[in-house]
Amino acid sequence: MSRPETEHWYHFATEDIASRWETNLEHGLPLLEVTRRRKRFGENQLTQAEGETKLRIFLRQFQQPLVYILLAATALTVVLREWVDASVIFAVVLVNSVIGYVQEAKALKAISALSKVLNSEATVIRGGQTMQIAASELVPGDCVKLQSGDRVPADIRLIHQRDLQIDESALTGESVPVEKNVAALEEGTPLAERANMAFSSTLVTYGTGTGIVVATGDHTEIGHINKLIASADVLETPLVRRINQLSHLLLKVILTLAGLVALAILLRGEPPVEVILAAVALAVGAIPEGLPAVVTATLALGVSRLARRRAIVRKLPAVETLGSTNVICSDKTGTLTQNQMTVRKISTGARQYDVAGSGYEAQGSVSAVTPSEYAPVDDQQLVEMLRAGLLCNDTRLVSIAQGVWKVEGDPTEAALLISANKLGLTHQAANMQYPRRDAIPFESQYQYMATLHQLNQTQSVAYVKGSVERLLPRCEHLANGDPLAPSAIETEVAEMAADGLRVLAFAKKTFPAEKTCLDHDDLTTGLQLLGLQGMIDPPRPEAIQAVAVCQEAGIKVKMITGDHVGTATAIAGQLGLQGRRNDENTGLFGITGTELEALSDRDLIDSVEDIAVFARVSPAQKLRLVEALQSRGNVVAMTGDGVNDAPALRQANIGVAMGIAGTEVTKEAADMILTDDNFATIEAAVEEGRGIYDNLKKFIAWTLPTNLGEAGIILVAAFLGFQLPITPLQILWINMSTAILLGATLAFEPKEPGLMARPPRDAEEPILSVPLMGRTLWVGALLVIATYGVFAFKKYLGVELESARTAAVNVIVMGQAAYLLTCRSLRHSFFQLGLFSNPLIWLGIATMIGLQVMLTYVPFLNQIFETQPTTWRPWALAFGTGLLLFILSEVDKYWRSAGGTHEMS
Ligand code: ADP
Ligand code: MG
Repeated sequence: MSRPETEHWYHFATEDIASRWETNLEHGLPLLEVTRRRKRFGENQLTQAEGETKLRIFLRQFQQPLVYILLAATALTVVLREWVDASVIFAVVLVNSVIGYVQEAKALKAISALSKVLNSEATVIRGGQTMQIAASELVPGDCVKLQSGDRVPADIRLIHQRDLQIDESALTGESVPVEKNVAALEEGTPLAERANMAFSSTLVTYGTGTGIVVATGDHTEIGHINKLIASADVLETPLVRRINQLSHLLLKVILTLAGLVALAILLRGEPPVEVILAAVALAVGAIPEGLPAVVTATLALGVSRLARRRAIVRKLPAVETLGSTNVICSDKTGTLTQNQMTVRKISTGARQYDVAGSGYEAQGSVSAVTPSEYAPVDDQQLVEMLRAGLLCNDTRLVSIAQGVWKVEGDPTEAALLISANKLGLTHQAANMQYPRRDAIPFESQYQYMATLHQLNQTQSVAYVKGSVERLLPRCEHLANGDPLAPSAIETEVAEMAADGLRVLAFAKKTFPAEKTCLDHDDLTTGLQLLGLQGMIDPPRPEAIQAVAVCQEAGIKVKMITGDHVGTATAIAGQLGLQGRRNDENTGLFGITGTELEALSDRDLIDSVEDIAVFARVSPAQKLRLVEALQSRGNVVAMTGDGVNDAPALRQANIGVAMGIAGTEVTKEAADMILTDDNFATIEAAVEEGRGIYDNLKKFIAWTLPTNLGEAGIILVAAFLGFQLPITPLQILWINMSTAILLGATLAFEPKEPGLMARPPRDAEEPILSVPLMGRTLWVGALLVIATYGVFAFKKYLGVELESARTAAVNVIVMGQAAYLLTCRSLRHSFFQLGLFSNPLIWLGIATMIGLQVMLTYVPFLNQIFETQPTTWRPWALAFGTGLLLFILSEVDKYWRSAGGTHEMS
């Protein structure tokens, strides 16, 4: 095949497209040709575009207020020709930026790597078969089917379409979906107006379509502009924002204090060099240099922890928000339930049947409930209903191993294939006998699906399946001609639903043979009811457990479903969902979308927290629900799978998309994607989120007292006219090395016992709570006292200044190491946690002590840091200080939890 050179595919008539690409819509490409074209045109993948350049990420690390101070300090020390100080301070800035850069790059990479795991799929016709393949395997000439919710997998010239609408904002920036048609367009039509094309990476928001791939990979329009779909690169989380605010505050405080220190020393008539050095020392000591890096590192670590538990985070803030989630709104089907449907009960309106057998093997039987009735095969209406289930069906069961079946499509429809198989009907035979002419696909907003088939020379027939609420009012009589008793049918439905069965109604309508097109309008009246099929879809055992854990953790779980209210409440009962009964008579704790619609905003807000089940809700109502919950201050996680769920997912604090059943549109809108579609995974993610936030708080609780202590030491020296017990350089040394070797190990602290037994964290709570401030103050004060104590003692003994300072540094470091052990938990005693549950802590402490020994005894380091070897006595004092600090803060913790104030932070 010669490669068709033109790129103006929109200008061609539809017939020309197929012939140019040597394909046809019915059979698609032969498989052999596909292989050839794969070789020739390559993978359908975009070359990875560079995001923000590495240099920019690196430079951004310097744009922090606290770094400005350090840079100013460097400049000042350079002016004073204090070369050692200048280079060490600058080295700290550099090290800090490198760590920040590495962490940020790692977090971004983790997120983008994870989103690539979620390869999108495409539906193609090849070798006469419709199949699902990875979108990357598409070649030009492939016939692709599009459906609402899909991401367009390549550039496609449309051949057929039905109400097709596509959101092309990825390409054109225009967010209003574009209506498509197939007519050829004039040469020179601008991209945004090429209505007969579907472009790679855009999103189908409505309708269906079929077309031929005309460009793949980098040859697509999106490939030309080489812009990958805006992936999540937001690294600013609410916490990071608050820490930045805190930094700004610190900046002001530090500058003011530094000014005061300078003034105090100046007034005593000391030389200006001393003045400046002291001010620099104060600034350097008070800045928590390690804070930003540790926060990003902890969040990035969280991303991979969550991925290991099958939750893929698309936006970093989600890691943090998860921990404060207090309402989870979950889909029922597939998330709370197993989504392995089996038809159990059938009713034709006249007779009832039980269906035996389970799984996807067609073993089992259909037998009349009352044995005296005649054999079911004689029941023409039963046969027709089961056949309707085969015909009005887009799902296939593919055998992947002996006795193992894979559902390609919708499990609800798979159940219908099996129930018909049990009476000996097959999909293939039915379709041969009654070829399909048209179809209206299932959309949850319509709650039904219909197909049109040729019945005989004179007639065609439409088969419709869907919710009883939608179909029953359209039915005039039973298919056998008997009159219809809607209330009797409704009672039957209610009985099936009370057993947790998902009920589908089936109906038909005949048309003249000429009819080839089916519209919603054709089906508003005059249907004949074929009957009902009720299928079980048991709760996932792990979901039952997860619901219990959530409720124990103060998280409300709500079921949001398109299913019948009776089915939904029955399943909710099996899951153990809690909710107040909103109807004293029926004892239901669920309402329907219609009832929800009737509620005023005020009433909805008042009752929304107590209702556990929302059934037959539309996507718009989902959005209203999220808003109502949020207006009561709730932090809401909401799941979704359909196209129309996207607005609700965006509005929710955590939008959760289904990795398997979800559409590309919802994944795009989500903050987090579940690779197993399982409710238990949401619970696990919340648990991780809580643990991660805990660890961040622990780090903050650990680092702030140290900084306060160091600032305090300088302040005391300045105002009382003492000699500085530690130099600016030594302060920098302490801050950097302890942040990395000690503080950062808290990020690896395993989740605390009872994590899911406490109520959700208040999303608005400040980082610095009153108890934490109190603790910061006394720990800081203790460090100041101990440092001066040791320093003064040494001076009293008459040792040299350098030696006394070395002892002081060791006191601070040992104090921090001991305090670190306490900070492993802000509520449980150190001994409850298990001594070695975080071995990194011990490794960090051991390394830190090793470094201090080197700092004290290695001559080279002595020179740089102005230290001097000491005897064993100051070491004993340092250990003593550590021990004292440890005991006091453990007692403080114990006393607080005994007093009922469980939380330190
Ligand atoms: P959920 O996923 O919460 O169970 P859906 O929106 O998928 O809700 O389904 C809502 C209702 O639409 C179902 O109760 C059923 O009556 C009907 N329905 C579901 N799937 C199909 C389908 N493939 N074809 C026709 N009707 C369907
Ligand atoms: Mg569904």
